[in-house]
Order: sequence, then structure tokens, then C-alpha cells
Amino acid sequence: MTALAPNTHGLWGDTAVSAPTTAPLTHDHDTEIAIIGAGFTGLRAALELRAEGRDVAVLDSGEIGQGCSGRNGGQVNPGWKMDLHEITAHYGRDHAHRALELAKSTVPALSALINGEGLQCAFIENGYVQGAVGQRGMAAINQRAAQWVEHGIDAEILSAKAGQDLLGTEAYDGVMLHAQGGNLHPLSYARELGRVVIERGGQIFTGSRATTIGQTEQGFTVTTQGGCLRARKVIIATNGYTDQLWQGLAQAVVPVASSLSATAPLPQHVAEAILPGRHSVSETRRIQVYYRMTEDRRFVIGGRGATFGPAEQGSTQEVRAIARRYFPALADVDWTHDWAGTVAMTWDHAPKLMRLADGVYAGMGFNGRGVAMATAMGGQLAHAVLDKPTDLPITGLYQTPFHGLRKLGIFGTLARGRILDRLDQNTRG
Ligand SMILES: Cc1cc2nc3c(=O)[nH]c(=O)nc-3n(C[C@H](O)[C@H](O)[C@H](O)COP(=O)(O)OP(=O)(O)OC[C@H]3O[C@@H](n4cnc5c(N)ncnc54)[C@H](O)[C@@H]3O)c2cc1C
Repeated sequence: MTALAPNTHGLWGDTAVSAPTTAPLTHDHDTEIAIIGAGFTGLRAALELRAEGRDVAVLDSGEIGQGCSGRNGGQVNPGWKMDLHEITAHYGRDHAHRALELAKSTVPALSALINGEGLQCAFIENGYVQGAVGQRGMAAINQRAAQWVEHGIDAEILSAKAGQDLLGTEAYDGVMLHAQGGNLHPLSYARELGRVVIERGGQIFTGSRATTIGQTEQGFTVTTQGGCLRARKVIIATNGYTDQLWQGLAQAVVPVASSLSATAPLPQHVAEAILPGRHSVSETRRIQVYYRMTEDRRFVIGGRGATFGPAEQGSTQEVRAIARRYFPALADVDWTHDWAGTVAMTWDHAPKLMRLADGVYAGMGFNGRGVAMATAMGGQLAHAVLDKPTDLPITGLYQTPFHGLRKLGIFGTLARGRILDRLDQNTRG
């Protein structure tokens, strides 16, 4: 894999809009609500809190969008990892209705935010496509689409031939075209959120890792190397990059690496045959790839990353080979960027909204589906710190069972997933 430094954000680092000017925290600073993590979750929370007239300061150990938010595939998907009937079962009678309404609203709310604020992030809203392989895959998309339709959102199943016309690949036995979704430039979206937070009077301190959170009579002191944030309340929005800042919080999620690769801008005749509608595609495979085209006609594909060691050590040979198999026209193109990030998986596929102490909340765990959902989580966290009702239930600190064995678990899941995916391939129509 190409060395990541100095641009850890791959293609996005080279093509994003400029970041607003920020600097590290170099003094002690008083605020009402301290937010740790300048990704979609933390920034959206900051924006919502500023709209409520609250004083906020955001800290990030790196830049705005340093973590998942500046590295992801930019695919906008509805809801979160769970199917709607799983949401109903998971949240139970008391919470299912609000959780379902939230799932239905993540993409429309993202769209309203981007369009309402005029965020420059190449957002296109052309639906969400999932390609199905084999009988299991077809059953999954049929069931999924039916549930969304039952809840009033359009989702249609296209035949293999219609799917091929839509996407330009023969890879699937059928595809789901869901009305909600699209794609955007993720680092631009994060930077634009940051710009608006600052324009509305919020503070963002970059290059400022929070090392401890201490309780005081007035609230909390968040310590960084250059100074402290004194705050009445704290939001932790560190997702797949959660460290030891709050005891036990890193065990709420399982960090899993994903690697991406991007081509040079494709010649017009090649680009026209690949995703002509510029859709974002994910799959029903257990070890899936996800891919899209960009505004400047580059093909971007992501998939499984390094199992052991830092995400940045993952190879992209496998996803490039899949790209060439799905789209033979990519056989001789130049690949210009490789990068990687750490997805925050949860044991039960549910995102976690947690109250860690009186006045300290955390939201994370989007299972690779966080462009719209992390944005929604920011709103949920803002409500939580303001003691307003939330759509997701607030739990205590969530701890993943057998977290210490996670690497072995990931290894086993990958091996099993590969075998089962191969069997699915054999049941292709
Ligand atoms: C490779 C990859 C591809 C993905 N593709 C997609 C996709 O196509 N579509 C989709 O919907 N989702 C995708 N996701 C998921 C999506 O990117 C995330 O769910 C979303 O960005 C989470 O946002 P966040 O703000 O919660 O976390 P992050 O963006 O990770 O932000 C957390 C921030 O916390 C900071 N931080 C951590 N610890 C500290 C500390 N102690 N002090 C200060 N700062 C700290 C980090 O530097 C980081 O910037 C992908 C994720 C990855 C990694």
C-alpha cells in the first residue's frame, strides 16, 4: 500500500475544500459544553448546540475530519446497519417508534442540512444501491426493500439485467434501488461543518488530544497538552478512534480497518460505462466492497483492511482486483491514491448513545454507515446534554462482550465470511 503520510486522507485530502483556520488549544478556556472529536458527530452536535445559543468548544487530536469522517467512502445510506424489523425488535415497544422515525429521517435531515447551510461537498442525492449475490443476497434485498416500502419509503428491486444497465457491471443477480441516499465528498463535508460551527461562534481546537477528563465542583476539566477546557458538560464523539480517555469507553466499539483506493480521472468513454448514474454501491456479501464515482470521474472502491496492526498497513490489491473483475474497462487505469480508516463496529449493529456520568455523554458505533447516521447522532447528543428527549434510548456505558478477543473474532469472521460468500456465489441465478 502507498505510504499514507503526509496525506492520511488519500484522494479526499488532495481534493477537499479548504479547512477553516484552526489552531491547538494553548491556554485554559471556559466553555459550557466541551466536545471531543471533530468528525460528523461532534461537529453536528456543536452546530445544534450553537443553534440553541450554547457555548461550545470542540477538540480534536488531529485536524477537522481527522478520523473516519475525512476518510470514508462518502456513500450516503439510509438508517443504520440494522434492517427496520431488527430496529423494531431491538428497541422494543417503548423506543421502536422513535428509533424507526429517526432511521427514516437520517438522509432527508442530512440533505436539509447540506442544502440549507450551502455546504460545498459535492453532494448528490440519487438513492442508495445494494447489489445482491446468490439466493441469500436476493432474499435479503427483497425483504429489506419490502420493509422500507411498508414504512412509506420507496425501494425497488431491479433484475440482474436492469441492475447491469444501472451500474455497468454483471456482478449482481439483482439490485435494490432505495430512494434515500447518494454520495458526497466526506472531508469537504466535515470541513464545511467545521466552517459553519466557527461562523456561528463555536470554537474548534485542532492538534489537541484530550488526555483526561476530571470532575470539578462546576463540571469538568478536559486536559490537553497545551491547556484545559473547563466545561459544565462533555460530549465524547471519538468513534473508531476512541482511546483510553474515558475508562472502558474503547470497549464500546470494535475497531475494524477498511482500505480504499482511487483511480486517476477516467477517460470519458471509460467513465461513461461505469456507474453512469454516479450511484454509490454496497453489497450483500459478508465481506463486501463499496464503490462509487467522483465528480471528477475517478472510481473509488473500499473494502476489508488490515486485520492486525494499524489500519494504514492494509493492502488495496484485493479491492483493486475486484474493481477490475466488476468493470473490465478498469484493467489498465492508473490508481493514484490508497488510504484507510478505522470503522467502529458494534456487537449488535446498533449505534450507542451513552450517558457515562451526570453531564457526560458519548455517541458512536455506526458500523460503516455513519455519513448520515453520525450526523443524526450529533443531534441526539445535543438533545441529551440539554436534557431534551432523544429518539434513541440513552444507555449506560456499553461494553462489547469478549472485547479482548476482538482481533481473533475479526479474523474468524473474515475467514467464515469468505467461505460463505463463495457458497453464495454458487447459488447465482
Ligand atoms: C474507511 C471507512 C470508510 C467508510 N465508508 C463509509 C461510507 O461510505 N458511508 C458511510 O455512511 N459511512 C462510512 N464510514 C463510516 C463513517 O465514516 C463514520 O461512521 C463517521 O465518519 C463517524 O463520524 P464520527 O464523527 O462519529 O467519528 P470520526 O470521524 O472518527 O471522529 C472522531 C474524532 O475523534 C478524534 N479523537 C479521538 N480521540 C480523541 C482524543 N482523545 N482527543 C481529541 N480528539 C480525539 C479523532 O481524531 C477523530 O477525528 C466509513 C468509515 C471508514 C473508516
